[in-house]
Amino acid sequence: MAETIFSKIIRGEIPAKIVHDDELCLAFHDVSPQAPVHVLVIPKKPIESLEHASDEDVAVLGHLQIVAQRVARSLGISESGYRVVMNCGRDGGQSVHHIHYHVLGGRPLAWPPG
Ligand code: 5GP
Repeated sequence: MAETIFSKIIRGEIPAKIVHDDELCLAFHDVSPQAPVHVLVIPKKPIESLEHASDEDVAVLGHLQIVAQRVARSLGISESGYRVVMNCGRDGGQSVHHIHYHVLGGRPLAWPPG
């Protein structure tokens, strides 16, 4: 897959407000937040999108969800509730082609999404 801005964030070449860092993944505040809390959780392994994930990625994808839960707790939105979203491909609204979860909270979120 082509290099993305997220690879540069993983390597520390561009700054990000990091809230979680481990051997498998990184979580950091979105540069253009759509809610009071808007964090991105990304694997360090460069997987382009959910469409490009395979059986060997099951563990890392599950890990991303548990880290999303931990981030929500640490940022104080677990009791009020939050949304974990993954956009995939053009119609899914994916703009950065390195798989990631959005963790959004801190306000009521409308449903269905646009
Ligand atoms: P997508 O549209 O692919 O689901 O989400 C990509 C997200 O990455 C967007 O919410 C966008 O604001 C965020 N983003 C894009 N470039 C950067 C960046 O350089 N730093 C940070 N922290 N977030 C970024």
